[in-house]
Amino acid sequence: MSTVGERIAAGRFVSVELLPPRTPVGEEALATAVRDLAPLGPAFVAVTYGAAGTDRGRTEALVQQLATGPTLPLPHLTCAAHRRDELTALLDRYRAMGVGNILALHGDPPLAASSDLPEGELRYAVELLRLARERGIGCVGVAVHPQGHPAAESPEADLRHQAAKLREADFALTQFITTAEDYFRFVEAMAVRGVDTPVIPGLRILSTLGQAERMTAMSGAAIPTDLLDRLRDAGDDPDDARRVGIDHAVQVCRQLLDGGAPGLHFYTMNRAAATLEVCGRLGWTAVEQA
Ligand SMILES: Cc1cc2nc3c(=O)[nH]c(=O)nc-3n(C[C@H](O)[C@H](O)[C@H](O)COP(=O)(O)OP(=O)(O)OC[C@H]3O[C@@H](n4cnc5c(N)ncnc54)[C@H](O)[C@@H]3O)c2cc1C
Repeated sequence: MSTVGERIAAGRFVSVELLPPRTPVGEEALATAVRDLAPLGPAFVAVTYGAAGTDRGRTEALVQQLATGPTLPLPHLTCAAHRRDELTALLDRYRAMGVGNILALHGDPPLAASSDLPEGELRYAVELLRLARERGIGCVGVAVHPQGHPAAESPEADLRHQAAKLREADFALTQFITTAEDYFRFVEAMAVRGVDTPVIPGLRILSTLGQAERMTAMSGAAIPTDLLDRLRDAGDDPDDARRVGIDHAVQVCRQLLDGGAPGLHFYTMNRAAATLEVCGRLGWTAVEQA
């Protein structure tokens, strides 16, 4: 099985993110999404991890299932609310199942009052990246935040921390990208700091105004005003709103690829249709992955 780093180096690619299902209906939706997305030939499939305590075992189970097939799984792992020995044990289990790629994250920790999870022993994602390397994980990626991390002490300090983390990583996935300018400005800010680790833009295709508002609440991402206006103008017509979101995503993807982004990563939310439509309009033809 090759690594995410090798697949990035091989040239233009599409990758996708999946969520571990919580219910039998969710399991069916996931199976359908995996089947429908397969013709895109995703370079890798990222699987989210519940820092707040949910989904932890489900992530491992889904990764194990994917690892037995043709897909290259990229498990997310968070250090929030985890002891070091728990993380070590999980990393060792991944290695034992032949998983050689990890996305090392801090995670958004649970609210103390609602959780009996332990204090996180590792403070920042970069410490988890180092632990993953110590445990023999060959390819370790990190998350980056082109619009800045909402909890950072200052924009300059945030860029400094992101550059330091990225320097040690094999690749990065971005927080939701809504304009190509945000992506290229961030890549340039890293280059100025001497860091040229590949950064993969992450896209969430919006199809309602409510999704846009939730996305901002979740990640702090500012959505371009003209996109918000067009989603608002679509009003209650779901087809109109969907078309606005798809048109916008196609335009941003073209700008990203034309400007030299290494590939495109889609946050699918376990639904294939919008990703397939955007990739179709980009003329994406799946390539046989090594
Ligand atoms: C691509 C992607 C995938 C994600 N997947 C998941 C998931 O599966 N599960 C989940 O729970 N969450 C996930 N998240 C959310 C993520 O965990 C949160 O955004 C989290 O708040 C930050 O994670 P990080 O790994 O960037 O943290 P870090 O790199 O640890 O940064 C967190 C904060 O600490 C600051 N910082 C970093 N290093 C230092 C330092 N040395 N000194 C002082 N300050 C420092 C940073 O500026 C930032 O403000 C994902 C986010 C992205 C972008």
